[in-house]
Amino acid sequence: AKENGRNNYQLFQSAMNKQVTERLALEHDLRKALEREEFVVYYQPQVNSSTGIVFGLEALVRWQHPTRGMVSPAEFIPLAEESGLIVPIGEWVLRKSCEQVKSWQRVFPNLRAAVNLSARQFQSDDLVETVARVLRETELDAHCLDLEITESTTMHNVDRAISTMHGLKQLGIQISLDDFGTGYSSLSYLKHFPIHMLKIDRSFVRDITTDEDDASIVASVIAMAHSLNLHVIAEGVETEEQLGYLMERGCDQMQGYLFSPPLPVEKCDELLHFINKT
Ligand code: C2E
Ligand code: CA
Ligand code: CA
Ligand code: CA
Repeated sequence: AKENGRNNYQLFQSAMNKQVTERLALEHDLRKALEREEFVVYYQPQVNSSTGIVFGLEALVRWQHPTRGMVSPAEFIPLAEESGLIVPIGEWVLRKSCEQVKSWQRVFPNLRAAVNLSARQFQSDDLVETVARVLRETELDAHCLDLEITESTTMHNVDRAISTMHGLKQLGIQISLDDFGTGYSSLSYLKHFPIHMLKIDRSFVRDITTDEDDASIVASVIAMAHSLNLHVIAEGVETEEQLGYLMERGCDQMQGYLFSPPLPVEKCDELLHFINKT
């Protein structure tokens, strides 16, 4: 039994080492990924519930690793966040998507860009300056940019978060509160946040047609948002039934596989021409 215990320990150790080595290797590759231009931005349509028009596109970054293939953001964003690499990566995503949406606006003048901001980015001292510079350089109108920040990002230091949000708002940008419902912020903060939209997390949308609790949470969030004069978008809408429920409750905007998955530029371009043609 003792022998066995030691073997297990050695197995455990070597598994741990493997994990650590694996992580270090990935972080090493992540450092090179920007200069090697291995990142790609995919765009997921955000749809107006009543008109069916694509009013905006959420930028979702992908990493095309030379040997591992597509690495999902769920895998590398946390690593990028810990190592601080998210700051340059995030700025690259912002610039890339502002450029792209600016170019689409020649055909679809009111199209908006939605870009995710990580906690590290949101807390960096020169965020407002950086966003202002990117807007200047890409010539995208600030009124066409939505920045998505998660509820938990705002919770580290609420007063500072509010002042950063005001700084962004002064540029003309709109702020969406992402993954809404998954954090544990007090609802009383909401009225102090200069935000434009609540984004209902996919985890609530998933079961709205089968779980009464989720259904009533979503209905209350929509009602509350409207009473605070906020727009609501639901993410992860996959079925007609979910769409039906959300429409009935007055959800303003939707996003999800039912409409389209995140798409590379050329595919998104085709879709825009198909849906938004006038
Ligand atoms: P998120 O911001 O909550 O983005 C929504 C995620 O749900 C995306 O996953 C999207 O592809 C996926 N999704 C959209 N519609 C559906 C649907 O109908 N069903 C299902 N099952 N999933 C759907 P993705 O692209 O893998 O991104 C995961 C997370 O990684 C994002 O969650 C976001 O937190 C982060 N992320 C992605 N790109 C960026 C970025 O450029 N910057 C930062 N800071 N984070 C990013
Ligand atoms: Ca998002
Ligand atoms: Ca989410
Ligand atoms: Ca339940």
